[in-house]
Amino acid sequence: MNEQYQHRARKRFGQNFLHDAGIIDRILRAINAKPGEHLLEIGPGQGALTEGLLGSGAQLDVVELDKDLVPILEHKFRDSDNFRLHQGDALKFDFNKLGTPPRSLKVVGNLPYNISTPLIFHLLQHAHLIRDMHFMLQKEVVERLAAGPGGGDWGRLSIMVQYHCRVEHLFNVGPGAFNPPPKVDSAIVRLVPHEVLPHPAKDPRQLERIVREAFNQRRKTLRNTLKGLLDSQAIEAAGVDGSLRPEQLDLAAFVRLADKLTEQQPAS
Ligand code: SAM
Repeated sequence: MNEQYQHRARKRFGQNFLHDAGIIDRILRAINAKPGEHLLEIGPGQGALTEGLLGSGAQLDVVELDKDLVPILEHKFRDSDNFRLHQGDALKFDFNKLGTPPRSLKVVGNLPYNISTPLIFHLLQHAHLIRDMHFMLQKEVVERLAAGPGGGDWGRLSIMVQYHCRVEHLFNVGPGAFNPPPKVDSAIVRLVPHEVLPHPAKDPRQLERIVREAFNQRRKTLRNTLKGLLDSQAIEAAGVDGSLRPEQLDLAAFVRLADKLTEQQPAS
């Protein structure tokens, strides 16, 4: 690479660049971009995934925070008409400005681990625009996303993401695939927003409230943790056993509790 376009990985931007061609190929095959599709890549870095995504013929918008990477990316992809770069913070990015029709945007990214959870929550607010998402995340986060009720991984992240999306843990990636190698294992996850929500809440903000409160103290019974929001009678009326702990409840039960709260305290 030309001297002028050399870049040193920055820790504060969570930069671990993919260099394993086999893994890059596997990720691209999982994404399966096609001409005519519209993709958004979060954190393209030096373009490890970007190159293959552009090669698919799809329209590709990328959002990169690190200003120093902008000239590198612009130089590298100067001949691609289907490439558009936005410099800025993906957490503040307005997805509406891409002008994509509902359920069409494919979102991808080898995400900086420090922003992965807030970014997923930010994206869920635009779930109606999104067809699917493929992310490289810390393996433990993928395990939490894909978890079912009954175990220690089941919590706020699993419930709020599964409210909106079907989750698939696709495959794991070891530290050696990156430069510099991270200290943790990684995994690729696919999130597909539901066309029709399987368990719609009357007010999703109340679901968020109930789930947050319930898992604040996950060792306690629901009767105890939800005391400030619902009394024992209301919990029973929602068809939930108040002596259970939050991790024993499935999504449908949390939605019933949230709906009870909405009945009692309609939000403005
Ligand atoms: N996609 C590249 C790869 O696979 O080699 C880079 C992945 S690296 C783990 C994460 C990338 O996200 C870095 O390029 C970093 O600068 C960028 N980034 C970090 N925080 C960001 C943010 N808030 N918004 C957009 N990009 C961000």
